Amino acid sequence: MTNGTALVWLRRDLRLDDNAALYYACRENARVSVVFVLNPALLADERMGAPLVNVFFDALAHLRDALREHGSDLTLVRGDFAAELLALARRSEANAIYFNEDYEPAAVARDEAVARIFESAGHGVRTFTDHVYFGAREVLRPDGTPYRMFTPYKRRWLEQRAVSRRPPFSSRDAVRGKLIAREDLGDSGLPPKPEDFGHARFRLPEAVSEKRALARLRRFLEDGGAVERYGIDRNIPAIEGTSRLSMHLRAGTIGIRTCVEAASMRSGAEKWIDELIWRDFYQMIYRNFPHVAEGPFIAAAARIPWNEPGDAFDRWCGGTTGYPIVDAGMRQLNQTGWMHNRLRMIAASFLAKHLLIDWRLGERYFERHLLDADPAQNNGGWQWAASTGTDSVPYFRIFNPLSQAKQFDPGGAFVRRYVPEIGTPAYPPPIVDHTAARARALAVYGKAIRA
Ligand SMILES: Cc1cc2nc3c(=O)[nH]c(=O)nc-3n(C[C@H](O)[C@H](O)[C@H](O)COP(=O)(O)OP(=O)(O)OC[C@H]3O[C@@H](n4cnc5c(N)ncnc54)[C@H](O)[C@@H]3O)c2cc1C
Repeated sequence: MTNGTALVWLRRDLRLDDNAALYYACRENARVSVVFVLNPALLADERMGAPLVNVFFDALAHLRDALREHGSDLTLVRGDFAAELLALARRSEANAIYFNEDYEPAAVARDEAVARIFESAGHGVRTFTDHVYFGAREVLRPDGTPYRMFTPYKRRWLEQRAVSRRPPFSSRDAVRGKLIAREDLGDSGLPPKPEDFGHARFRLPEAVSEKRALARLRRFLEDGGAVERYGIDRNIPAIEGTSRLSMHLRAGTIGIRTCVEAASMRSGAEKWIDELIWRDFYQMIYRNFPHVAEGPFIAAAARIPWNEPGDAFDRWCGGTTGYPIVDAGMRQLNQTGWMHNRLRMIAASFLAKHLLIDWRLGERYFERHLLDADPAQNNGGWQWAASTGTDSVPYFRIFNPLSQAKQFDPGGAFVRRYVPEIGTPAYPPPIVDHTAARARALAVYGKAIRA
């Protein structure tokens, strides 16, 4: 414990509870202030969508309220990360910065730059694993290299957890008496608005707050046993069979340790924990194999000759391919900012295989339209669907959108919700013939990958 003052720089961890950086900053310093940097260039990036910006700004407003309840405030600064943080450290006489790791390649570079600048100014820099249960270098193969496939990774992850549990950080308690009083922080300004950064308002399904996230987790795990039915219900888009926590996990209004630990107290939650392990897995892949951010995980897949996107891509985006289950999924995305996992798989496979359009275009489209847009998980999902990634099943798994619809939306309830014109002349004929498209994909993929 020092007598110093620390800045806690929050990014994708917009919460007071179960927050590693906040916890250690409070344990190791006399005074702590919490800061978020609004970087106009990042917010204007073409990969940043209005839904995600709205999620983050709502979470910031709730975080500010939570800090005010503690007599403190959220410090918001605008501009270049390193310059603004260093200037703030000088103004507030802070001598250390604490933050949680982020695995996006651009974030890694940014964080290294901030750390260098702080260190050369003589300040302490402390970083922590927080947004994943196990860090990218914690679950490794016996030879010390990262896993490339999910199943052995999961086995090792579970073994590791049996001997090294990560309970949630009690940071909500640790902040007591440590946060700098609001009157000593200066005016932090109003919470940001999406339109100030060129983004439209997007209707959020609920508040992006810690309170809401925790209530959602409790409801999913405790009431009525939704988690026990998850193994089956998770595949049925017409019902709410999943936790809908992804937006909260993205902005960090709930911690991953809180989710894993709460679920592990509950019998029948294994399948749900598997999905949280998938999340760790894709984060680990993104950190250890950063080339996936730009192209395929498997080198041979770079040879696939993609079609020009053209009109087919526009029809896929707008949900007018003439394949009802694909169209319903895309319209759910466009209208609500969330898409059911089964539909993400079907729609992604359809773009990459049936239309032979570069999966990266679909990845970008999802990024700009999802409330839970997360580069690592989105990339993992897309590479899985396009058979360019870590999946052990080869390219000849091609989802049949007709049989998928029969299996997972048998009465057509979900499709009718989003494609009410189905069966009328207003609904377009299929953009491609399934059998012919499947044969074409097999030929093109086969030639590229076996070449
Ligand atoms: C093409 C494609 C793109 C995707 N893009 C994203 C994305 O940008 N952001 C995102 O959070 N998820 C993404 N996913 C994974 C998954 O579809 C969503 O996490 C899930 O639908 C969110 O709903 P939920 O919170 O109710 O999930 P639940 O089923 O309740 O799962 C709980 C949590 O586990 C994690 N999770 C669940 N499924 C997966 C998975 N297959 N891979 C990795 N993590 C998973 C998520 O954090 C999720 O919130 C994508 C999947 C595919 C196939």
